[in-house]
Amino acid sequence: MNTVISATNSALGNGSERHSGLILENVSKRFAGLPRQDFAAVANLNLTVQDGEFLVIVGPSGCGKTTTLRLIAGLESPDTGDLQLDGESLAGVAARNRDMAMVFGNHALLPHLTVSENLGFGLMLRKFAKDEIASRVNAAAEMLGLIPLLQSRPPVLSAGECQRVALGRALVRQPRIFLFDEPLSNLDAPMRVQLRAQIAAVHRRSGAMTVYVTHDQAEAMALADRIAVMKDGALQQVSSPLELYRRPANRFVAGFIGSPPMNFFEGTIVQRNGSAVFRGGFEAELGAGGQKLIGQGGERRVTLGLRPEGIIEGSGASFEASVERVETTGLENIIYCSGGGGSFVSRLPAERAIKSGDQLTMQINMNCAHFFDPESGAVLAG
Ligand code: ATP
Repeated sequence: MNTVISATNSALGNGSERHSGLILENVSKRFAGLPRQDFAAVANLNLTVQDGEFLVIVGPSGCGKTTTLRLIAGLESPDTGDLQLDGESLAGVAARNRDMAMVFGNHALLPHLTVSENLGFGLMLRKFAKDEIASRVNAAAEMLGLIPLLQSRPPVLSAGECQRVALGRALVRQPRIFLFDEPLSNLDAPMRVQLRAQIAAVHRRSGAMTVYVTHDQAEAMALADRIAVMKDGALQQVSSPLELYRRPANRFVAGFIGSPPMNFFEGTIVQRNGSAVFRGGFEAELGAGGQKLIGQGGERRVTLGLRPEGIIEGSGASFEASVERVETTGLENIIYCSGGGGSFVSRLPAERAIKSGDQLTMQINMNCAHFFDPESGAVLAG
């Protein structure tokens, strides 16, 4: 499906010299009556969405994801800052003129209309010709496997089918930008995975810019070209999924992205026999990077971050741990342990029979180590 050049876009002229895509520049939004007056739902947000990009905004509840999406959609206006689409400010452009289609978790279909009528409803309101509506509805229904359901009404559909109709309703608009707000939140796990694949397919086929909000980092990792991680209204990092996993900018991102999450150990990097050593609940020698962290002769308090795959069984830089709980995925065992001065989670092959109460010798792979400032949480080296 081709992206239709809307009245909004064509009004901008051909603008080939202009930046194409969406830019949020220093955008802030406060709401009256929030418990803390100094608290902004969205604070000084700078974000760019490239043409054709699938950008996922992820973060815990209340971090400002939905507010950001509503600001893009024009359902809220920023207190400060500006949003631009293809180089043109969106200030003063009403939501209905923004050529964006939004999909929510709560699909709100019209129960008395058929699936076909629900799909075409928005186009009908916009006075599209009947033939055009029929052709767009058919194309969307085909793409989403809704052809057999076209004459059914929402009350007889499953939650997953309703959500596919909601997706189709956005698709027929052929918008410049798709906006998704937790579209899978009301579905069971298998349905979530299925619909996730359909959303990815819609994006591949339409090539339309997409901004997708979720609190689920696994969903973000699965779908995104780039992920924007937010906390308390502030953008923490925006990067590709792999980059976020491998090079988190701070402790929050490190702990939020990845499942099971990264382990953290408090300690100090000290000098010993000319090399840098992490000293905490266990001791481990650092490579050349460690030396850079403390300079000659110094020492420094750090938070050491290790992903579950960075703590494995073995000798060397090792410590004793006791297994408190084991979860198996079939492929591997996720083991929750105490040891090394705290508790941590590791993953071992499923063939390694392990049960709670077992004592293990765990080895640190310092090549996988991340170091954070214990106060600010900012990354020191990775
Ligand atoms: P969730 O995942 O729970 O939906 P979120 O990350 O989408 O959270 P927002 O809904 O953007 O977060 O909310 C950010 C903050 O702004 C929260 O503290 C929320 O209570 C507050 N907020 C959002 N909308 C309003 C509003 N209309 N009036 C007052 N406060 C609001």
